[in-house]
Amino acid sequence: MTAPTCRLCSAELTHTFVDLGMSPPCEAILEAGQLDQGETFYPLHVRVCPQCLLVQLPAYIPAEDIFSHYAYFSSYSDSWVAHARAFVDGAASRLGLGAGSFVVEVASNDGYLLQHVVERGIRCLGIEPAANVAQAAVDKGIPTEVFFLGETTGADAATRNGRADLVVANNVFAHVPDIVDFAKGLRALVADDGFVSIEIPHLLRLVEGREYDTIYHEHYSYLSLLTTSRVLAAAGLTVVDVDELPTHGGSLRTWSTPTHSAGEPSAAVAKVLADEAAAGLHTLDGHVGFSTAVAEVRNDLVEFLVECHRKGATVAAYGAPGKGNTLLNHCGIRADLLPFAVDRNPFKHGKFLPGTHIPVHPVERLAEEKPDYVLILPWNLRTEIAAQLEYVRSWGGRLVVPLPALEVF
Ligand SMILES: [Zn+2]
Repeated sequence: MTAPTCRLCSAELTHTFVDLGMSPPCEAILEAGQLDQGETFYPLHVRVCPQCLLVQLPAYIPAEDIFSHYAYFSSYSDSWVAHARAFVDGAASRLGLGAGSFVVEVASNDGYLLQHVVERGIRCLGIEPAANVAQAAVDKGIPTEVFFLGETTGADAATRNGRADLVVANNVFAHVPDIVDFAKGLRALVADDGFVSIEIPHLLRLVEGREYDTIYHEHYSYLSLLTTSRVLAAAGLTVVDVDELPTHGGSLRTWSTPTHSAGEPSAAVAKVLADEAAAGLHTLDGHVGFSTAVAEVRNDLVEFLVECHRKGATVAAYGAPGKGNTLLNHCGIRADLLPFAVDRNPFKHGKFLPGTHIPVHPVERLAEEKPDYVLILPWNLRTEIAAQLEYVRSWGGRLVVPLPALEVF
């Protein structure tokens, strides 16, 4: 079998970043009636390109299957709406956006961000591939077109609407299989003196925090500032500034402009590139240690659960996020070691986690069963969740996080 090829430079992907084995799609939660049926597992084998260093997961599941009927409405999350408002305020003052400006957002979802642009009296356009989600934005008075962005569709939209002073692509760049065509679409949408703002989870934070549970099938590219710059350069865009953000375990927001009008990159760009280089992310060899770190996380977690099982100590999981499924499937954990999970989302109650078939119950189940340990799967929210779970200590229970290293507290 020949190796897959790089989506940026077409080199053969002969080097593994980390191979997590096979997993079902992480959001494919199961009904009881599905437990006796077959389940499709796809590889989670992440490669690093030996030529351009882009860390990537081949498109084992096509984006059209995932995002055409996307059920996630960003406006349901208060923190995302607040994050979006702060972004719009900052971008408007940074770029001097006003009544004559035009803003385009790609993957505009239900208008959670563009509603703040409309409020400012600035003309805008949303581009959203999921028709049901786009309709929610249109109903709020936010002009939205339904298509997947690429060079051709971007150029068509620019012909119809004009080119934008600001094009925003937040948390979508890592989720498009043909990332170069997508970047060319961004270039087609932006005016020659305009800016493109992109938010991406930062590979440096993934490596440092061993956040391997942020690897899942819809997450096609794992980007550093270096590789992001290379993708954008292939589309005629140059990164001139970058902000480091705490979201998604550590993200970057890059600001780029058409290459022919780009000035010198800011000191922040040089700083982030230097951090990445120091962590080894600018060489192929610097990527090889991640598999070892991931194996350590798995060994510690499985050892802990097996030890509990031997002693007769009980463990339950708190939270059933998609990311938890990458971890549980990779570690081969099933209901014999982790009998149940609890979650606040009523949609998940009475259902079963994909692959592992661990049942999901309401949070109240913890107080009924009084497990000796509660494993917090959304470890990135550990402070907030530990405060909510303080009552576990009333029966002598303790809390556990699996990442960045197993910790019982
Ligand atoms: Zn490459």
